[in-house]
Amino acid sequence: MTRIFLATLGTETNTFASFPTGLSQFRNYVWSEQGIAAIPPSHTSAPARTWVRLAQAAGWEVVEGLHARARPSGTVTRAAYEHMRDRILAQLAQAGPVDAVLLNLHGAMVAEGYDDCEGDFVSRVRQIAGPATRIGVILDPHAHVDHVLIDAADIVVILKTYPHVDYEERAEEVFDLVARAMAGKIEPVTAIFDCRCMGIFPLTRPGPMPGFMADLCAAEGRDGILSLSLNHGFPWADVPNAGAKMLAVADGDRAVAERAARKFGERFYDSRAEAALPFTPFDEAMAEAAVVGDKPLLLADLADQTGSGAPGDTTHILRALIEAGIRRAAIAIFWDPLAVGVCFDAGVGARFRMRIGGKFEPYSGPPLDAEAEVLLLRRDARQAQQTGSNSLALGDVAVIRVEGIEVLMATRRVGVFVPELFEDHGITIADKQVIAIKNLYKHTDVFAPLVRKQLYVAAPGTSNPNWHELPFRRLPRPMWPLDPDPLGRDRS
Ligand SMILES: [Zn+2]
Repeated sequence: MTRIFLATLGTETNTFASFPTGLSQFRNYVWSEQGIAAIPPSHTSAPARTWVRLAQAAGWEVVEGLHARARPSGTVTRAAYEHMRDRILAQLAQAGPVDAVLLNLHGAMVAEGYDDCEGDFVSRVRQIAGPATRIGVILDPHAHVDHVLIDAADIVVILKTYPHVDYEERAEEVFDLVARAMAGKIEPVTAIFDCRCMGIFPLTRPGPMPGFMADLCAAEGRDGILSLSLNHGFPWADVPNAGAKMLAVADGDRAVAERAARKFGERFYDSRAEAALPFTPFDEAMAEAAVVGDKPLLLADLADQTGSGAPGDTTHILRALIEAGIRRAAIAIFWDPLAVGVCFDAGVGARFRMRIGGKFEPYSGPPLDAEAEVLLLRRDARQAQQTGSNSLALGDVAVIRVEGIEVLMATRRVGVFVPELFEDHGITIADKQVIAIKNLYKHTDVFAPLVRKQLYVAAPGTSNPNWHELPFRRLPRPMWPLDPDPLGRDRS
């Protein structure tokens, strides 16, 4: 009987964030030693869930190891990474011989002493599983990928969407390719092309990306190509294997894989400037915020977006709105458990001088001291999600009014994913001049009908998009946009 082992291990590490990621951040997000079915469905659990379903349908025996994910944050502690890695390796060893290992990883986990956790982890999986076992890996496109991981695995497939909505399809793809390899029908070989660029490359905005991804998909399953993946790279990480990479998996023919990786990698490189999300300088964004329009302006403070490891407690935009005299504004979500606790003690209707934000790490910047009125308090609040996932826990929420501006604070570090978050907590969007959120891009499409314009603001913070200002030391160079034309193709 065919036996497979599967596990989940991942987070996205912002190496510029000074706060470490310990075991509790995994235990409090996605954590199961009793199989993936034991925890609520979510996008991060979807690959393992899909693999269990497909394996059971095929009549295979499934052995599940640990499933663990943490939200993006600072460097993972050595103890946490080694504990989870060694736990899964022990479970794999205990499982005995398996025909395949399927791993749901993120791809951008950095731990103390480990620049490349996935390369280290999958290499050790290979040592235990042996050369005949097929290893399939699914990654987020905001990953760091090099030959260590590619050589240790048989198949690496990366999500093709950003915002990410294709966890299930890509899991099915990994399963299908691994099953065919196990049956001896294909012999996957992978090539990797280093695109030498970094940035944020959404797929749902006009520009070259939608067409590029459509052509990528169309080229799969033809001319010996089994799978094509673009790794965007995660730009807030100072590691030697960072940057965008193109992966091509061919059937038995390395030259075919290399040609495809180069062809699509160069095409992506040539469109990099157009494909990258443009950022608005802080001052320009605040000038635009002063304009009164028929709908609100949306400011996405991506430098303090929790989705790429920032704390979510900087006060730069809140302070600038107050100083500009803008009163019809709302801002969310401040991660400030201390302030929320004080509001719960004070009660709804209380007015007092309080300290907001600016607490968690050096990049948090100064707090804001101001007169506040408590408008709403809610224990165990939740935020609805766009897709089939369960709603997201916010912890306890306090909404306050500061100088006319409504501020939503929570005890859990979460971004804004749906506009309903505001209305559900008593904040009207339609009558506002400015809505500010601590997000990068994921919210864009759902907010589009409600706002006159969206700006991706380069305020100060942990996830500063002014790449030139980040203290990179170990990033491979040349790397666009720090270096203008690393592959020397701009004039060709
Ligand atoms: Zn991602």
